Amino acid sequence: MAALLLTGGRVVDPANRLDATTDLLISDGKIAAVGAEAAKKAPAAAKKMTVNGMVVCPGLIDLHVHLREPGQTSKETLATGTAAAARGGFTSVVCMPNTSPAIDTAGTVALIRERAAQQGVVNVFVAGAISKGIAGEELAPLGGLKRAGVVAITDDGHCVQNNELMRRACEYAKMFNLPVMDHCQDYSLVTDGVMHEGYWSTVLGLRGWPSAGEEVIVARNILLAELTGAKVHCQHLSAAGSVALLREAKKRGVPISGEACPHHFTLTDAAVAGSDKFWTTDGKILNPQPSTLNLPAWPSYDTNFKMNPPLRSARDREAILEGLADGTIEILCSDHAPHCDYEKEVEFDYAPFGITGLETELALSLMQLVHTKRLSLADVIAKYTVNPARLLNLNQGTLSVGADADVTVFDPDAEWVFEKGATASKSTNSPFYGWKLKGRAVATIVGGKVVWSEKSDLVAA
Ligand SMILES: [Zn+2]
Repeated sequence: MAALLLTGGRVVDPANRLDATTDLLISDGKIAAVGAEAAKKAPAAAKKMTVNGMVVCPGLIDLHVHLREPGQTSKETLATGTAAAARGGFTSVVCMPNTSPAIDTAGTVALIRERAAQQGVVNVFVAGAISKGIAGEELAPLGGLKRAGVVAITDDGHCVQNNELMRRACEYAKMFNLPVMDHCQDYSLVTDGVMHEGYWSTVLGLRGWPSAGEEVIVARNILLAELTGAKVHCQHLSAAGSVALLREAKKRGVPISGEACPHHFTLTDAAVAGSDKFWTTDGKILNPQPSTLNLPAWPSYDTNFKMNPPLRSARDREAILEGLADGTIEILCSDHAPHCDYEKEVEFDYAPFGITGLETELALSLMQLVHTKRLSLADVIAKYTVNPARLLNLNQGTLSVGADADVTVFDPDAEWVFEKGATASKSTNSPFYGWKLKGRAVATIVGGKVVWSEKSDLVAA
């Protein structure tokens, strides 16, 4: 593999506290040099990529992705899901185990890892199930899953309701040095809620999914993390109360962490009432000069705004942003959840929860966090690189010399419109089509190989 020299970019590597305009040399699939000596060390035959004005950072990691294999390949496959990841600037993803069958045995983990090695264009790490069949009744064989290579356990899509079972899961996970990731949802409070319980659910006549349904489980997880010492990670936080609980627990040193997805800090529940309601109320905050933007329109009850946990109130959205800004929420991810058109094109009550996100999450995070000056660029990059790598004990997420050459190059200021025809995912269930976005991946490099680039001549065959 030829060496590759990236010149003139803004190299941001939070793990090494580096943020400088300099060069980066990749050789034999590893980071060979960073800084002034990179150009000197580059062999004469090295390929050169001029990246002036671009950001060069450790390959982005999304630790919450549904790749739908095995069993749901009409929604997504390892090939299409990882292609979407590469397009979005992601070099590593963690796939969730709520597949058909669930990823709850060493054999299924081996199958995914083997297929991912053949068909995936980015690194695929596997999360195993907490309970057999994700049924919440009996623990999955956690030791076997660990030996098969899972990086975490979770029943995502579902939530273990039995606190004693969750306690045992935490105890075993700690023994195997695995983080426990949890989709926080109390079934007795949420029942068959389909959107945030509040003003808009009442106006629209839809059953409510109250914030307390998430907060109760976040509190449970804090107590169990404290009791067992296991690392517990709360997935896709949506409610203000969850952020407050996490903030307080972290101050006490509890091994608890949390993640947020761009839809929860970009949109609110008013979006379910249609674009006119959203843009005239909450949308104004998002775009200070709406008259200059070509705003998309959507009808009320659009199922592309149905996700779990649901879009919440403007106050909750603000609390998630504050949690990200003060470090309470350390990790950003998409919860990329592809579904077929025919599944989403039904009444709101019957549609499955979830939206795709791999291709829009970088732009939405930059828009809501960096372009609004809530967070520095390095802080946002840390939430997509070193922070998830640390939680999952991965060697990824840094540009240290000798590390795997997983590198993302992006233009933080590029303006573009997300178009259906340009998506690499097998599914198109995103609410962000037609949105004018700011910030875009330019090249995605995995193990020294350019797996996706705007300029196709750079992409390795
Ligand atoms: Zn989930």
